[in-house]
Amino acid sequence: MAIDTLTRNRIQETLFSERNIQLDLLRLDLIHPQVSGNKWYKLKYNIQSAKENGYDTLLSFGGAYSNHLHALAWAGMEAGMKTIGIVRGDEVNNETLVDCKRWGMSLQFITREDYRHRNEETFLSHYTQKYPYAYIIPEGGNNELGIKGCKEILQDLPANDYDTIAVSTGSGATSKGLALAMKPNQKLWCFSSFRNNTELEQWMKEHHSSFDIFPVYQYGAFGKVGEEVRLFKEGFLRRHDIELDFMYTAKMMCALYHLIQEGRCENRQKILVLHTGGVQGNRGVIP
Ligand SMILES: *Cc1c(COP(=O)(O)O)cnc(C)c1O
Repeated sequence: MAIDTLTRNRIQETLFSERNIQLDLLRLDLIHPQVSGNKWYKLKYNIQSAKENGYDTLLSFGGAYSNHLHALAWAGMEAGMKTIGIVRGDEVNNETLVDCKRWGMSLQFITREDYRHRNEETFLSHYTQKYPYAYIIPEGGNNELGIKGCKEILQDLPANDYDTIAVSTGSGATSKGLALAMKPNQKLWCFSSFRNNTELEQWMKEHHSSFDIFPVYQYGAFGKVGEEVRLFKEGFLRRHDIELDFMYTAKMMCALYHLIQEGRCENRQKILVLHTGGVQGNRGVIP
């Protein structure tokens, strides 16, 4: 899984040209057909570490449409490792999970109540006892090695050309990795799909003070998509021939356009927006 060059697309809109705003979209969605977007970076060092330490299995957690489990199933298969996906909620059989199974992942469904304990030692010890050769990756690949991988997203780019980097946020691992790679005066705009962002906010205050967290749940709670986002995503596809995912990048772009409309961007601001992938998840969204 080698990345040669990352594609950037300059997005042209009257909304931007009127204000001399430059908006470039970094196409992480194009780096791999299955291990799409930021997931590639988050898994890279985790899989390497698992292999080096003699594990033969990768175990992680996610929802039924999880881009993370989807990416893990493929990446594990490529790495010659077994994979186990612990899925939140009742057993279902959607396209995401069918792919996971096809790529050799064994799935276990647990109740939403149990799933809440997914980061707790005692809960995890159940899995370490049952699967001693399984390397456990937290939900969303959100650990030190996941963050370390995301630090590399900007490494081959003239990232200094930009005043602002915009990214959609879930677990926060990608945002943290970016923050560690940015210049102190560069702004990081995190468009969060989650309601509670206190952990991320605290972390940013300690590591990269030039940040803002914009909640996007007004466009539909996590896992849901509102009408505005739906129309925005379709319009964006029509105008630019680029498919966004409903859950993260379409909500982020919708919010970003609003910020610009409201005059919250400076004239001549240069913004790099990450397309973090996740388009596979669109199959689960009813039109
Ligand atoms: C997983 C995902 C995110 C969230 O990344 P975090 O590192 O968990 O914050 C953002 N966008 C897309 C498309 C994703 O699939």
